[in-house]
Amino acid sequence: MHRDHDIAIVGGGAAGTLAAIHLLRRAAPGLRIAMYEPSLHPGEGVAYSTRRPEHLLNVPAGKMSALPDEPGDFLAWLATRREYAGAGDQSSRYLPRRDYAAYLAQRLEEARTGSAATFELHHHRITALHRRADGLRLEWSGGSATAGRVLLATGNAPRPLPARGASALGAPRLLEAWDSEGLAAIAPDARVCIAGTGLSMVDAVLTLAACGHRGPVHLLSRHGLLPLAHAPDSPVDTGLEVDALLALDLRARLRVLRQRVAEAAAGGRPWQAVLERLRPRVQALWRSLDAADQRRFLRHVVRYWDIHRHRIAPEADAVLQDLVRSGRLQLHRARLDLVTSGTRCVHIGARDRHGAVVALDVEHVINATGVEMRVQAMRNPLLEQLLGDGLAVPGAHGIGLATDMDGRMRDASDMARDDLRVVGSLRIGEAWESLAVPELRQQAQAVAEAWTGVAVAA
Ligand SMILES: Cc1cc2nc3c(=O)[nH]c(=O)nc-3n(C[C@H](O)[C@H](O)[C@H](O)COP(=O)(O)OP(=O)(O)OC[C@H]3O[C@@H](n4cnc5c(N)ncnc54)[C@H](O)[C@@H]3O)c2cc1C
Repeated sequence: MHRDHDIAIVGGGAAGTLAAIHLLRRAAPGLRIAMYEPSLHPGEGVAYSTRRPEHLLNVPAGKMSALPDEPGDFLAWLATRREYAGAGDQSSRYLPRRDYAAYLAQRLEEARTGSAATFELHHHRITALHRRADGLRLEWSGGSATAGRVLLATGNAPRPLPARGASALGAPRLLEAWDSEGLAAIAPDARVCIAGTGLSMVDAVLTLAACGHRGPVHLLSRHGLLPLAHAPDSPVDTGLEVDALLALDLRARLRVLRQRVAEAAAGGRPWQAVLERLRPRVQALWRSLDAADQRRFLRHVVRYWDIHRHRIAPEADAVLQDLVRSGRLQLHRARLDLVTSGTRCVHIGARDRHGAVVALDVEHVINATGVEMRVQAMRNPLLEQLLGDGLAVPGAHGIGLATDMDGRMRDASDMARDDLRVVGSLRIGEAWESLAVPELRQQAQAVAEAWTGVAVAA
């Protein structure tokens, strides 16, 4: 039976690229691996495609290795780079994200040249996937191919601005937070409103600051919470018994954690140590909540969780805090409702939690509302087709896709087959913590081991 590929990876961001590296390092002679990624640069995806030096990793370099079994691999790569020569130990530093893209691209190239397998990179956006007698058939505009196994790594989907009138606004009035060139072109005195106050907002603020912007910047979000900073040296509260938490319900867990954080504060220790202790066990913590508690978490806790869990580099925090102190950044706790284009500006209408109108006139609105978790709202034709044909179903609580614990995709009859697996953020419903490199590399290694039968890379 002819198949074009033994394994096809759909999506070549960090997750797909990590999977390719792990597969190539283990593959037996003759295995044919392909990756489908529309952009020209594998490994970049949404997070690492930025060329701007002020966009930093939010994880210290020492924790960003592509290889779970070689935790120092990113540091070893940095040591070979001229720009880091003589710069000392980088393990606790928050480096530019563009360096991480260069690292992944080089490790992919090395894995390809050193592999017994063949590797093809196709710059097509896959629009459909069908199960046929001869394997899994991938389709794109103008072509198709068959594969024995498919790994779905389509990753993050930016959210459209959630406001009436947004679809009638275009650049440069409405800019996406990841459009660095658009942001860099904003006039220095222009009034700006950034919708959303998460990590994409931080990127946008850092770019405006780096480009000499000095006009007022309004930050708009429903909860008005800003990301918090990492503590120096990432301490870990080793005294916290995570196993004991697993047996508790959500409310009791939160009580224990609040108490622990208060004790740390009273003892002059950083609260971040408590979160660092939880970090490797977040998947177990999520899976051990019942469905009702998971729902409560998503409804009432997630905003607070996000700012504590997804922390920013201390140097990024310093810039942010300076701008808040100087009054240049003004935080509005309000829900965005309406955007309309005037002759010279954009009118923004929002409502605070008491129903009072917050009205702003600005030259630019920046959409920093982050990534979409609900698979039906991701506007990805491939995912829509998979759902429509019953090859996939939404994950728990409608977020991501339903998978088993090893990432096998569940179909409409709840069957999880081994030839169609998922890595990365689409596993959020089942795993919750399934976004950052520590999880992505683990998932990539696990699928490579399962599909090549080789547990230790050659
Ligand atoms: C701004 C930002 C900063 C971050 N910083 C860090 C950090 O410092 N450390 C960390 O550990 N994590 C960080 N993260 C988490 C980050 O999401 C992951 O590290 C990683 O980038 C996720 O990669 P991914 O491949 O799953 O998704 P993506 O980066 O979204 O890549 C998915 C790829 O799939 C492709 N694709 C989509 N649909 C199709 C299709 N139908 N056919 C073919 N290709 C398709 C896209 O073109 C894209 O290249 C950050 C995330 C963001 C958004």
